[in-house]
Amino acid sequence: MSDMQGLYHHIHERARCAGDKTFIEAGSVKHPYSTIDLTCAKIQDVMTNASVKKGSRVLVQVEKSPEAVFLYLACLRMGAIFVPLNTGYTESEVQYFFDTAEPDLCVCDPAAEEQFIRIAGQKTVFTLGNDSSGTLWPKVSIAEKADAEQIAGSDIAAILFTSGTTGRSKGAMLSNDNLRANVEVLSDLWHWSEDDVLLHTLPIFHVHGLFVALHCALWTTNTVIFHDKFSPDQVIADLPRSTVLMGVPTHYVRLLADDHFDNELCKNMRLFLCGSAPLLCETFLQFEERTGHKILERYGMTEAGMITSNPYDGDRVAGTVGFPLPGVDVRLGNEVDGKGVLEIKGSNVFSGYWRMPEKTAEEFTEDGYFITGDVSTMDDKGRISIVGRAKDLIITGGLNVYPKEIESLIDDVNGVDESAVIGVSHADFGEGVTAIVVLDGSKDLSSEDIADAIKDKLASFKRPKKIFVVDALPRNTMGKVQKNELRNVYADIYKN
Ligand code: AMP
Repeated sequence: MSDMQGLYHHIHERARCAGDKTFIEAGSVKHPYSTIDLTCAKIQDVMTNASVKKGSRVLVQVEKSPEAVFLYLACLRMGAIFVPLNTGYTESEVQYFFDTAEPDLCVCDPAAEEQFIRIAGQKTVFTLGNDSSGTLWPKVSIAEKADAEQIAGSDIAAILFTSGTTGRSKGAMLSNDNLRANVEVLSDLWHWSEDDVLLHTLPIFHVHGLFVALHCALWTTNTVIFHDKFSPDQVIADLPRSTVLMGVPTHYVRLLADDHFDNELCKNMRLFLCGSAPLLCETFLQFEERTGHKILERYGMTEAGMITSNPYDGDRVAGTVGFPLPGVDVRLGNEVDGKGVLEIKGSNVFSGYWRMPEKTAEEFTEDGYFITGDVSTMDDKGRISIVGRAKDLIITGGLNVYPKEIESLIDDVNGVDESAVIGVSHADFGEGVTAIVVLDGSKDLSSEDIADAIKDKLASFKRPKKIFVVDALPRNTMGKVQKNELRNVYADIYKN
């Protein structure tokens, strides 16, 4: 059921009760709960003066900082639609997001100002560095306090771009209700209490760091120890005064690789959460052996926030993502041999892709279930395991890469006939982006030549870690490239 109030209203009510308790602690700077509303009201004033209205998109590509969090909250407060971008996106990628989102305001890193001005034309560009440098913050410090807008639960709060299978990213529209429904369930399910201290090391342009982590903390008014990126040394330094850590599998692998990481450091810890990519059973077991903690693995996606979770009190089983969250209906579509594509319905599920009604219609069943694309199994108790990805998505270091986008760029290189991009098991990144390329014979290209030709067009996390030049790609009788065969052939290339 739709809420009469937007998410900000609830956050504000809770923050008011928390008073001077610290919300974000970043290095030596502490931002108390009591300052959230004033800061957001001033940011709102600056945005309003820059022609931002309720429903306007605000395109944001900035480094992680408390100020960037306040910018997000200010968008919620005034009903502007927050559109965060991965900081790794290059100019041509940002141009696509700008053209698609049609924002009234862009906020970027000071170093990217010229590039954004080129992209944004007549629209306003403010800059924000991770030390509150740039043009935005001086304006905020002298701004008036704008009145909060009346926001309804059904209003769109944010658009998060997912990578598209066709190479074009799709903007998932998430309403205030979608976000509230998810945090309400999670704060209860994961037993958040006022005494929790969240160690925040994730990026804030993605659903995991922005919504799951920050909303849970805001909902129970917890203190957030804010790291600008994941660094094992920093985590080890702050773990003794934290109670909850959210990470991607790579983070846990890195912590285990550090000899200083032991159970003594984890004495104050209540919960280690993991998701965004499959956690290896091996990592789960090593972690338990080293710390005595069973990592709680959960599963979700941009379009729906969290979908399933291992239980807090019951068995946390490695290799499974647990049970559907309360209020989320799941079923397996096109089930064969106990495996099917997971389909979901619930108030956490997004309303559709921004300005892509046809794509939206394709991804929902006739009776309103969203087709996740994740191939899953479900045991007789309803416990779910994700066993593959229907759409060949590669997850490297917790970030998604769709092969098609990279294949298209490689195919455009002069001298290339065709290519196939696959994810290959990689101890550190989970999967390493790997390209297999066939030349057309007009030029004698090396792997390095191909890497050089595409590197400026791709964020570094998407660039192939290895490129192989071969005579032909394996195909089936229907002419389709057999990626499974390629995955077998190259399975060991990242093993020592
Ligand atoms: P994103 O939209 O970037 O959050 O990526 C969502 C995708 O990540 C899902 O559709 C899954 O394929 C994958 N994913 C997320 N959590 C897990 C998990 N715990 N195990 C396996 N895959 C996961």
